[in-house]
Amino acid sequence: MLFPPASCPRLIVKVGSALLVDVGGAVRRDWLAGLVADIAERVRAGQQVAVVSSGAIALGARRLGLARGGRASLEDAQAAAATGQIALCQVWAELLGAQGLTAAQMLVTLDDLEDRRRYLNAAATLSRLLALGVVPVINENDSVATAEIRFGDNDRLAARVAQAAGASAVVLLSDVDGLYDANPHIASGAQHIPRVERIDAVAGMADAGSASGMGSGGMVSKIAAARIATAAGAHLAIASGRVERPLSGEHRHTLFVAEKTASARKAWLAGGLTARGCIHVDAGAASALAAGASLLAAGAVRLEGAFARGDLVTVEGPGGTLARGLSEYDAADAARLLGRRSDEHAAILGYAPRAALVHRNHLALL
Ligand code: GLU
Repeated sequence: MLFPPASCPRLIVKVGSALLVDVGGAVRRDWLAGLVADIAERVRAGQQVAVVSSGAIALGARRLGLARGGRASLEDAQAAAATGQIALCQVWAELLGAQGLTAAQMLVTLDDLEDRRRYLNAAATLSRLLALGVVPVINENDSVATAEIRFGDNDRLAARVAQAAGASAVVLLSDVDGLYDANPHIASGAQHIPRVERIDAVAGMADAGSASGMGSGGMVSKIAAARIATAAGAHLAIASGRVERPLSGEHRHTLFVAEKTASARKAWLAGGLTARGCIHVDAGAASALAAGASLLAAGAVRLEGAFARGDLVTVEGPGGTLARGLSEYDAADAARLLGRRSDEHAAILGYAPRAALVHRNHLALL
């Protein structure tokens, strides 16, 4: 991957609080306008871009006059987030709008992306927005998430979003330009690491805590994010946002190289789960799957198992097991759709149908 990642069809850009909000608690509008101009350039070049934006707590805390940047208690953080989020999205919508782009807000909790059924919903919404040319602006739903179900930092959230969106790269923009072999604020001879192929080799170099004190992500959370993203087949870059137009031109960064997509997907879909059912398909569907298509109901001939929406199922062709994937329907509804064309589904189900029985983004060929 080059940096900036010009060749990635689907890109997630995470922006840290310290870049968005100045020490007085105001939005750094000029800088953000530059980043939005970069994003607009990428979208015009045909890339799909989603933003994971922090800054709600920092912004809201200033408006409410809360101590410790709104992080003195969970209640403070949640009130600050609720207040700041509306202002944050307003700025994004305005600046993206000035570039002729439409913004969409998505607020998610850890549960939304861990629970496979809700994961499918979030992933489908995200994909639809991106296909429509909209720029989703995503944050954690801090005002309702409790401590136990919080990501807590948007680095990991960005990596999960990349996984859900089937993105090919994540850029974490923050106040550091990458990973060093020692803390550069303390050790003067600390060496910058431009490229990481094996995370285990560098994990010990991370230092907890955010340099700015404003966001909650430090290098530990960035490396945790890199593990999630690279395992899901997405590259992850840590780059400094302390420059104008951070996504244009060459800037120093650390690139964590993605694991091979096919095997990473397979590992994740296997993910300790046992398949709850099986979908048998005809030869036509088998060759469509091999060519990278989703599994459509028209090519399905028989089901086994009492699986629920979001459960792992195996896909069996005439010649044996073809794939594993997450079912978009429970077994009862899937059974009603067997062999039926997509344009018949709405009438059969009585509700707006999904695009496939198993979407290719949630399918791993074996
Ligand atoms: N979701 C938090 C916010 O919008 C930021 C989390 C983080 O610091 O990464 O303020």
